[in-house]
Amino acid sequence: MDRPYELIEASDDEELQLLSETVRKFARAHVAVTSEESVGYRREIFDLMAKSGLTGAAISEALGGTAMSSLATSSIIFELSRVQLGPAIYLSVHYMVSRLIETWDRAGRHHPTLRDLAAGKSLGAFCLTEAPAGSDAAALKTQATKLTDGYRIDGEKIYITSAGHADVYLVFARTSGEGKEGISAFVVAKDTPGISFGAHERKMGCEGAPIASVRFDNCIVPPSALLGDEGAGYKIALSGLSAGRISIGAAACGLASASLELATRYASERRQFGSAIAEFQGIQFMLADMYLRLRPALLLVRDAANKLDRKAPGGEERLASSAAKCFATDAAMFVTTEAVQIFGGAGYLKDYQVERFMRDAKMLQIVEGTNQIQRSLIARSILK
Ligand SMILES: Cc1cc2nc3c(=O)[nH]c(=O)nc-3n(C[C@H](O)[C@H](O)[C@H](O)COP(=O)(O)OP(=O)(O)OC[C@H]3O[C@@H](n4cnc5c(N)ncnc54)[C@H](O)[C@@H]3O)c2cc1C
Repeated sequence: MDRPYELIEASDDEELQLLSETVRKFARAHVAVTSEESVGYRREIFDLMAKSGLTGAAISEALGGTAMSSLATSSIIFELSRVQLGPAIYLSVHYMVSRLIETWDRAGRHHPTLRDLAAGKSLGAFCLTEAPAGSDAAALKTQATKLTDGYRIDGEKIYITSAGHADVYLVFARTSGEGKEGISAFVVAKDTPGISFGAHERKMGCEGAPIASVRFDNCIVPPSALLGDEGAGYKIALSGLSAGRISIGAAACGLASASLELATRYASERRQFGSAIAEFQGIQFMLADMYLRLRPALLLVRDAANKLDRKAPGGEERLASSAAKCFATDAAMFVTTEAVQIFGGAGYLKDYQVERFMRDAKMLQIVEGTNQIQRSLIARSILK
């Protein structure tokens, strides 16, 4: 069969194939979970990613990055997720922050920050969500008050991936009245006085990518911290979403692909009633249904990445990325749940990976715009 569970196909160019093979080896050697204790956040994984040249994939060569295509960065996220979701998630956020800072930087103000992000000396975090502003991000309340020489940021962000571990925070805060137009974006360093971090939230899965709140109390930043124009913050946040959603779709495919491979192997080895359980039609249909979700998910992610890479006209990549994110993450939820079922009692134990993949898949239906929000966006796009 021609690479049934792969994101990168035999018809893709050699460079892409080499990248995905290299990342697969890297992931197996350094990211794979070897014990319960090894699932948590470990900075050394990010440091190793830096050494392998993965941290600068979303930054231009002039700033020390490798300016990879969306399909290439998706393949990195896909391969990492096949063994452990956490590092794939914080790298995906790091890519989004890197891309946004470089795209919206004016007059090279943020070049030193971008060089550090590319080299993996700094890890990036994206601070949009607040208690009153989740799906409705435009309702955010964090205030950035203009001073004679800079801004004072006050407020609290919640559920922030890598909070406390990241070195650079892309923060969305209000510089004027209500609504989208009043929001601006700021690049804030971790050591800025007035920034503090809550304890890690205890969550269902994805332990390798901790989340926590980020507080800003009288946090003074210089005028150069502003990214783009005052009032452009919402536009900036939205402009990173297509790439972010494709990345989440790729992560979902990684979980689903690993789960289908594990379930297939287990079904061939586990014997009941005198034969391998893979001989039973009930199990065969489950495997077939898993494939029937995974394969289109891979194709939708490829389609969205290709559209983004060739800058398809009319913002086609927005519909494609919502479709990829929504379908692939629903597919991952289905495939990982079925994998647990095929493992039977063993599937419910921590000793096998499938229960972790199932818990991790749930997160992907929620982040980067919930799947209800994706469906609304898809419907709006169809009805236009
Ligand atoms: C593990 C994890 C990591 C995260 N990392 C980050 C991060 O790094 N940075 C960041 O800024 N945020 C992050 N988030 C926040 C995440 O983006 C939000 O949780 C998500 O956008 C949903 O917002 P909410 O939790 O407030 O849910 P709500 O918006 O309150 O939604 C609750 C429910 O209502 C539904 N709903 C809401 N509005 C509509 C509507 N119009 N139509 C239909 N249904 C609707 C939702 O789909 C959901 O089912 C993270 C969250 C998690 C769980």
